Amino acid sequence: MSEHYKHLLEPLDLGFTTLKNRALMGSMHTGLEDKAKDFPKLAAYFAERARGGVGLMVTGGFAPNVEGWLSPFGSKLSKKSEVKRHLQVTKAVHDEGGKICLQILHAGRYGYSPLCVSASNIKSPISPFKPRALSTKGVYRTIKDYANSAALAQQAGYDGVEVMGSEGYFINQFLVTHTNKRTDEWGGSFENRMRLPVEIVKAVREKVGTNFIIIYRLSMLDLIEQGSTWDEVVQLGKAIEAAGATIINTGIGWHEARVPTIATSVPRAAFSWVTGRMQDHVSIPVVATNRINDPQVADELIANGEADMVSMARPFLADSDFINKAAAGKPESINTCIGCNQACLDHTFGGKRSTCLVNPRACYETELNFTPTTQTKRVAVVGAGPAGLSAATVLAERGHTVDLFDKANEIGGQFNIAKKIPGKEEFYETLRYFDNKIKETGVNLRLNEGVDVTALISADYDEVILATGIIPRELEIEGADHEKVLSYIDVVQDEKPVGQRVAIIGAGGIGFDVAELLAHQGVSPSLDVELFNKEWGVDTDYQQRGAYTHADPEAPARQITMLQRKEGKMGANLGKTTGWIHRASLKMKSVQMVRGVEYSKIDDRGLHFTIQGGEPQVIECDNVVVCAGQLSRKDLLAGLEAQGMKVHLIGGSKLAGELDAKRAIREGFEVAAQI
Ligand code: FAD
Ligand code: NAP
Ligand code: SF4
Repeated sequence: MSEHYKHLLEPLDLGFTTLKNRALMGSMHTGLEDKAKDFPKLAAYFAERARGGVGLMVTGGFAPNVEGWLSPFGSKLSKKSEVKRHLQVTKAVHDEGGKICLQILHAGRYGYSPLCVSASNIKSPISPFKPRALSTKGVYRTIKDYANSAALAQQAGYDGVEVMGSEGYFINQFLVTHTNKRTDEWGGSFENRMRLPVEIVKAVREKVGTNFIIIYRLSMLDLIEQGSTWDEVVQLGKAIEAAGATIINTGIGWHEARVPTIATSVPRAAFSWVTGRMQDHVSIPVVATNRINDPQVADELIANGEADMVSMARPFLADSDFINKAAAGKPESINTCIGCNQACLDHTFGGKRSTCLVNPRACYETELNFTPTTQTKRVAVVGAGPAGLSAATVLAERGHTVDLFDKANEIGGQFNIAKKIPGKEEFYETLRYFDNKIKETGVNLRLNEGVDVTALISADYDEVILATGIIPRELEIEGADHEKVLSYIDVVQDEKPVGQRVAIIGAGGIGFDVAELLAHQGVSPSLDVELFNKEWGVDTDYQQRGAYTHADPEAPARQITMLQRKEGKMGANLGKTTGWIHRASLKMKSVQMVRGVEYSKIDDRGLHFTIQGGEPQVIECDNVVVCAGQLSRKDLLAGLEAQGMKVHLIGGSKLAGELDAKRAIREGFEVAAQI
């Protein structure tokens, strides 16, 4: 056994089988589950993670019947004919020495489908479809469908199933009164409301026999009004154990909850306390979840008795080798999940295949590969932002000789600005990862070197990659050069003094981040669980149903107004799963949002503008901070091409519009895979 992270890496004996360690790769819908033709890709994705050493994995959700679909014709396991495709997955995982469970997920009223059903016919606030209330018979039939799905999973070679009982899906909808208004044996008293999950687990156990893992994902914190009480959660946990479950996994928050549960602004392991409390009430292993992305944190949770296992989902998208690296005592080489959701959950909710911002190979294991080069080249990479870092390290890994230049005194480009925003502290981890990767791969890093065309030509490189990023867009209105005007770089990077009353021009990702920084004071709630709970209304005393109480955020540090010219929603281009958090956070800090403006001028009074040709208005302020987008920095391109140099443009230097780190890192990978 490894000398490192002994608690996390200790085997777990389940009686009839032993898991090689306490790491569970939690369920994630990747988009590869929906079509039979994608199963070879799904098998390669899981095989790579089994090879990486994770003890037990759970697939994305498969519905037990069509009523339980997440979306029409989506993933489902209800017929014998659907078994064959899964054999590829289970064989690939077992060949690598891994273990895998299939998640049975009935979406209930979260189903994006006209066929969706629930306990009662009450529409969810986040779905356009009103569910049909299942008949009494329909409930009995659905229990049989769960058992049938589990039996098919067993035939397909899975080591077990996970029954999804949390996150506000079908089973959760039966548990609480605001979605369950039934008067039959499945509604009314808590005994009646909790009968469904208990009968499901019993029926599954009866069908699969004793030597098959059943994980039950128990909603320990609903984080909605009228959610379960703690006594109800405990009562259900005990009944689930008695019904035959092998492991209890933790579920945190319904999807419609207004508390962030996995975004980067959630502190690490913020909800492990509730799993710790459940430990006292059941004797089967319990699993802690949510925003655990580091082997030290995971190890401590088990050492402190808060959990028997730790579920990490997205961290295995970011690095399939997470466990092997931890076991080798090399945590610095782990590519850490930064909780951004940009390439995983945002893709899932946008109907796209999931991948990972920091690891574009995730879910593309059969398509994006880096083979050793047969012809070593000397390559210069100019710019050590996310794009240049990914290109340089992949090139060097493939065997090329790489010089990586940056005019700054540290690697990271704009990520050095991003990591200073409260709630984005995790971005530092990507820079730590690349810093280590540069050393591991032998990239020749040359900081404090702003290169020009002459230097690059005289060094006689075979090819040059320009990853020189962007230039902030400047304002072109009267007073743009007034002393109260600052750029986001002045404010965040150079920490220039900012007054009490601020107007922010531009409401894109950077405008929102700057508003967050300027409104904030004191310790970042992302680094302090107590502050986070206070800010978002998480009731750790469980005095309220659902452990959800009134939010009590810190007072804002400044009076801020954010403006945009468009008439549409502010922050419309923010991430699907995180935009609401940014908007809610700024609302709590009383940030005013003004849209549809035409800027007139900036003077000693402040920022002057009109709305749709109306009366002139002015925001009296001490500073105007410009976050008005960016332009590509391509200053070296023409000179290099004129000299016949083979040049590649990536990241911001290629295109500033719709730039983010996801695109920058992916373009770096792609160009480096080709040279
Ligand atoms: P850059 O990061 O701009 O790097 C370019 C590098 O080139 C710089 O280090 C520069 O010094 C160097 N350089 C330029 N010219 C030369 C030269 N002649 N010689 C040597 N070196 C040179 N993106 C997300 O995806 N998610 C987020 O949540 C997010 N938040 C952000 C928050 C803030 C406050 C900011 C400012 C940005 C944020 N971004 C975010 C955007 C993200 O950081 C950028 O999309 C990404 O950094 C672009 O990468 P790049 O490598 O193309 O360019
Ligand atoms: P952006 O998202 O394009 O937003 C630019 C803002 O400036 C818009 O609100 C735009 O609104 C305004 N604007 C554009 N031209 C203007 C002009 N000439 N005068 C005044 N206002 C103008 O760009 P960004 O905020 O600079 O962010 C850069 C990139 O970083 C983005 O592409 C983003 O994806 C990425 N980023 C992402 C995140 C994240 O959380 N995912 C966070 C930060 C940054 P109007 O045109 O309506 O005025
Ligand atoms: Fe983590 Fe972001 Fe990658 Fe998703 S896209 S796995 S949140 S780093």
